[in-house]
Amino acid sequence: MIIDIHGHYTTAPKALETWRNRQIAGIKNPSGMPKVSELQISDDELRESIESNQLKLMRERGLDLTIFSPRASFMAHHIGDFEISSTWAVICNELCYRVSQLFPDNFVPAAMLPQSPGVDPATCIPELVKCVEQYGNVAINLNPDPSGGHWTSPPLSDRSWYPIYEKMVEYDIPAMIHVSTSCNACFHTTGSHYLNADTTAFMQCLTSDLFRDFPTLRFVIPHGGGAVPYHWGRFRGLAQELKKPLLKDHLLNNVFFDTCVYHQPGIDLLTKVIPVDNILFASEMIGAVRGIDPETGHYFDDTKRYVEAAHVDADERRKIYEGNARRVYPRLDTLLKTKGL
Ligand SMILES: [Zn+2]
Repeated sequence: MIIDIHGHYTTAPKALETWRNRQIAGIKNPSGMPKVSELQISDDELRESIESNQLKLMRERGLDLTIFSPRASFMAHHIGDFEISSTWAVICNELCYRVSQLFPDNFVPAAMLPQSPGVDPATCIPELVKCVEQYGNVAINLNPDPSGGHWTSPPLSDRSWYPIYEKMVEYDIPAMIHVSTSCNACFHTTGSHYLNADTTAFMQCLTSDLFRDFPTLRFVIPHGGGAVPYHWGRFRGLAQELKKPLLKDHLLNNVFFDTCVYHQPGIDLLTKVIPVDNILFASEMIGAVRGIDPETGHYFDDTKRYVEAAHVDADERRKIYEGNARRVYPRLDTLLKTKGL
């Protein structure tokens, strides 16, 4: 079985974006604020948006199941206040839940949180609880920078995040550390902000003792871990300077990387530097990089090709494709076992 742990609903029907644009306009002009009930998307529209996009590519590429969360760049936690974010998260999470109900063999939901800059992260807990208990979400996406590129929130090691971690530990769910759209002109959203955030989140974990407080807390750092694997020696050296334990003891029981690296040398480096137990298969399709690589003739985001060609043995490849995901996402493992998988 091949599990893609990083998929977003980037192909939602246009009505979603139209509703969101009306909501954003309603911040300045409250009389135009749309009601949630004004967004109507039928099951047939959802089916069509999935079958002709993600599911089509999954079948072509031989992927079985995707952990599916709301479109990351659309989370845009910096827009409006908590109420705006909250309403938006409810809508987006419900759509991913409906997709998981329409395609229960292929999609399992992960939740976005109604984060808002300057607002206590604990306010996200009711939505988190609903998504796990009622919608069967197996993970959350946690935005370390709800300001959208201005980094006004305290680091992930700050105690203000702890209520979320306590809930994650209680439910035994991981968080993918995932920023959203950059509203800072210095940072391109997917080219800089995402990779900066991945690297930043890792370093925040490194300098802290977060996992001493939460030994079973698990973070998935996407996009291959940003700059982390490439600069592994720097991080090991910094840990040593800071009198931290070896990274394998300090972080690698809790931090995992995905394979959303869009060329073979990148995956070769990832699998060489990072222990295979910490690598989870993912493609993030249909996402930021949708084109065909002229050097290979294949889609950049067809990451299975790179994993197939990586220098790992069959057992290690099975861990990357399935075993590690079942270990890091225990609720997914339980769900699959109830289906005899
Ligand atoms: Zn993503």
